Amino acid sequence: MTYQHCYDRSIADPAAFWAEQANDFAWYRKPTQTLTENADGTHQWFSDGRLNSCYLALDYQIEQGRGEQVALIYDSPVTHTQQTFTYLQMRDEVARLAGLLRQLGVEKGDGVIIYMPMVPQAAMAMLACARIGAVHSVVFGGFAANELALRIDDARPKLLLTASCGLEFDRVIAYKPLVDRALQLAQHQPRQVLVLQRPQARAEMIEGRDLDWQAAVASAEPVAPVELGAADPLYIMYTSGTTGKPKGIVRENGGNAVALKFAMQHIYGMQPGDVWWGISDVGWVVGHSLIVYGPLMNGCTSVFYEGKPIRTPDAGAYWRVVEQYKVNGMFCAPTAMRAVRKEDPEGLLLRKYDLSSLRQLFLAGEKLDSSTHQWLEATSGKAVHDHWWQTETGWPVTAPCVGLDGSGVRAGSSNRAVPGYHVQVLDDDGHLLGPNQQGAIVIALPLPPGCSQTLWGDHARYVQSYLQTYPGYYHTGDGGYLDDDGFVYIMGRTDDVINVSGHRLSTGEMEDLVAAHPAVAECAVIGVYDEIKGQVPLALVVLKDATPISEQQLQSELVARVREQIGALACFNQVRVVKRLPKTRSGKILRAVLRKIADQQPYTPPSTLDDPAVLDEIEAVLASLARAG
Ligand code: AMP
Repeated sequence: MTYQHCYDRSIADPAAFWAEQANDFAWYRKPTQTLTENADGTHQWFSDGRLNSCYLALDYQIEQGRGEQVALIYDSPVTHTQQTFTYLQMRDEVARLAGLLRQLGVEKGDGVIIYMPMVPQAAMAMLACARIGAVHSVVFGGFAANELALRIDDARPKLLLTASCGLEFDRVIAYKPLVDRALQLAQHQPRQVLVLQRPQARAEMIEGRDLDWQAAVASAEPVAPVELGAADPLYIMYTSGTTGKPKGIVRENGGNAVALKFAMQHIYGMQPGDVWWGISDVGWVVGHSLIVYGPLMNGCTSVFYEGKPIRTPDAGAYWRVVEQYKVNGMFCAPTAMRAVRKEDPEGLLLRKYDLSSLRQLFLAGEKLDSSTHQWLEATSGKAVHDHWWQTETGWPVTAPCVGLDGSGVRAGSSNRAVPGYHVQVLDDDGHLLGPNQQGAIVIALPLPPGCSQTLWGDHARYVQSYLQTYPGYYHTGDGGYLDDDGFVYIMGRTDDVINVSGHRLSTGEMEDLVAAHPAVAECAVIGVYDEIKGQVPLALVVLKDATPISEQQLQSELVARVREQIGALACFNQVRVVKRLPKTRSGKILRAVLRKIADQQPYTPPSTLDDPAVLDEIEAVLASLARAG
């Protein structure tokens, strides 16, 4: 199959194209309705199809003769553990855990929060929910109690699954006190908390509410997968929007399964039996699509890694895993490779390992800078591909389709649109722009299967956030352009979202916390360049008159506040006091101008700016930061 043929067909007749993709698929009942349009511009794929995502990931693979094949390789340098689970073993574990969930009163459509480190039980928990039609929401373990509480109140879970601790290098991070604190903060209370005790730390249990995972699972009866509708939600994944309230992206069973099959085969070039390594955490969308559902639904062996790119034990860690498990394809974020490069610039550690099994590397989550790209290609001798997607889409929007002929790759670009995505560029007024003209990157509706069509409990916010800015298009929030040959260049977010080590964070949420400090009159938080993390937040703060606080003192108080409320993953470490912030005459802070200055992009001070002189101080502050970095 050629890329061009697939792409053209997918745009000319999306329903026919996706009906074909969904044809050769283990539905319980094959859909007769491929695509339905709703009045508000959202779409529904495969509405009358019936399936189960856990069945597709495990039982179906066993039926295809893969029972003895390894499904999951758990490699944990932080606990010195290496363990494999065959498809049969996974199915048995998951079926029993699903039985336990049901015994605890979890039914189809109920929410379940999973707040766990990278242990295989986290993947089993996701699949167990999918097996009985419960809707899981995995919350990244790096989030502080307050963030967990926000998600508990939004998802309203019947059950919360956690572990006693996570491990960061050689540090043990107790999870249970964070869960207890979150449940004090949250209005909604799950009926029970299932706690996986890890040997590195034991959790204090609250009688009547907390249950010991191992003991409870041991006495549970396995259950079979239930039949679900294609539109039934599989999971909620919270992501940062521009406000403090996270958005609960909803992924549907049917579209997700069809899209991930397409992605694993045609984008990543993976076949059943191949070894795939998605390097991320189950707390992110990559963990869902590229550690659990994508590889397992496609009969691959998935590497599940509880470690870091460096210091576990060194910058050769990734290459050790590739050699040891004969990894055929891998995904990681550019920030990880920048960290590896910093420690091993000459690739001396890399050369200790046999990477012959590896066909290519895919990088996404943030812009892949050309220096890291070139370094990685030269040192590894492998093809390195940038590709672009979002939590909302759940699978790549632009990527080289290495499983299809002729999609081509172009360094510096995140490559061409994947079949199903009609990527275009619009100006501020919604007019289409031509090649090489920069504007808002949008996707013409309908979005292909797999992309989120609603937010949990707030459909109106979905329509307003994504579909209203440019009618007929999905608004990605990214700016950039297409070249003459349709290769896409992502220049960064056009809203108040920043990307720290590939993690999306809301500057608005940080501003709320900074502004609540008694000494702060007003503030703006922006993303500034960081060599390893891509971007880190910087708070520009105007003090209340006559407030006796030094910049140093203010900084340490604000850093503690953001760490306590959001978590260390925000990397909020820099605060600068300024005399004024650039504003419009009506008093609105000009964040777009601040972003441009921070990114060292040319800008024209807007005519609405009340006093252009204010920009001199901001430029000086940001320039001094750049020099210091
Ligand atoms: P998330 O939903 O957290 O995965 O963040 C998605 C955002 O990350 C996108 O909207 C982009 O701003 C950014 N992003 C992801 N992949 C890339 C890429 N390959 N190049 C540039 N930006 C990217």
